[in-house]
Amino acid sequence: MKRKRFLSVLGLITILVIIGFFAWFFTVLFEKEPPSAVLEPLPEFLSGSRKFTLNIADKKTGLRSFQVSIQQGNKEMTLVEGKFTSQGLLRAGGVHQFKNEFTLDPGALKLAQGEMDLHLRVWDYSKRGGGKGNMTLLRHKMIVDTIPPSIRALSHEHNVSVGGSGLVIYETSSDATESGVFVDEIFFPGFSAKKNSGNQVHCCYFAVPYDTKSQPKITLWARDRAGNVAQTSFSYHIRKKSFRQDKVELSDGFIERLLPYFAAFYPFHSEESNIEKFLWINNELRKENDETLHQLMKKTSAERLWDGALLRQKNTANMARFGDHRSYYYKGVKVDEQDHLGVDLASVANSPVQASNHGRVIYADKLGIYGFAVVIDHGQGLASIYGHLSKIDVTSGQEVRKGDIIGSTGETGLAGGDHLHFAIMVGGVYVNPIEWWDDHWIEDNISTKLALIE
Ligand SMILES: [Zn+2]
Repeated sequence: MKRKRFLSVLGLITILVIIGFFAWFFTVLFEKEPPSAVLEPLPEFLSGSRKFTLNIADKKTGLRSFQVSIQQGNKEMTLVEGKFTSQGLLRAGGVHQFKNEFTLDPGALKLAQGEMDLHLRVWDYSKRGGGKGNMTLLRHKMIVDTIPPSIRALSHEHNVSVGGSGLVIYETSSDATESGVFVDEIFFPGFSAKKNSGNQVHCCYFAVPYDTKSQPKITLWARDRAGNVAQTSFSYHIRKKSFRQDKVELSDGFIERLLPYFAAFYPFHSEESNIEKFLWINNELRKENDETLHQLMKKTSAERLWDGALLRQKNTANMARFGDHRSYYYKGVKVDEQDHLGVDLASVANSPVQASNHGRVIYADKLGIYGFAVVIDHGQGLASIYGHLSKIDVTSGQEVRKGDIIGSTGETGLAGGDHLHFAIMVGGVYVNPIEWWDDHWIEDNISTKLALIE
């Protein structure tokens, strides 16, 4: 009796174990976790041949197959696909993770301009889905745009001096989102002026830097939202210009008078000599200050704020010119060289300084070697700089009119006496102020071109 009962219990346990095993076998085979899929990058536009990376994985039954296809309208084509073999008692996949790269070339695939869909499908070795496995579908919409914007100059006769400024009026197709002028590696952004039968007309002020060594290459450039780039030439003539040499004698007395002002700027220790401190100010601090001024171009107004020739400080003598190459001597030995990139104008001490044209103050503070300085933005990349002031009468953000008093001359910063250091920047590049003071130069080089957009 006891033996029979024992056997039936054993039979029941065996049945339960078998049922348990099949239940486990069934859950494993019919797992419902779909594979994971990552596709990179996911650009909004496709402007040319581009490489994509797919990363697929399946933790449970493993990867069965994948397919990358594109769909445009009712056309669908497979770009790349792959199958993984199954193995073992469960006939499951041996590959759980897979990475692959593929290239999508809209030209080679003869894709039409406009919307397209990129599909990535991945299946695993689960017995679900009628035995096909769990499927993951990743869809990414892109716009095929492989046509660069059009660009052409509308203005003629661009005569630019080395160290001088130029203006070009040009037209782009309406899809251009960014455009301007390249002078060798320097980019000058253009500004939208008006529409012209579906096209966009722009103006762009540019400069040929004073230290340009040979004939610079000047081109018009545009880019559309998809990243297609167009670059084209236009007619121009570069006038060579030579700059003066100047000699500066540094006396101990001059350096001693300067240093207290710079105490807050130089990272030196007391063991360094005064001439070493001076050289740091004249080189490192100068570079830093010029970079600050260069970066101010980002604050420029997209509208033209100025009108007519810029004002030249009244009744002043020209103490130093634009582009003067200065050699510095200390105790008879040449210790430094720098270029003077503004004009020094002197009259009586503490003379009132006028805004050279209409604009908006974008800087009004201490600025290293330039002492108390004011920068006025005149719009579209044109800015005037006033240095060594003893007093500032304006604040950053303030609008000024031509002739408004913005401060008084002085000798703050790196200055050997009371004067105004006046400089002009076009797109963050120093240019010769003489051109902008000259009615005739403005008439011939700027106004005749602006007439095309006004
Ligand atoms: Zn100066």
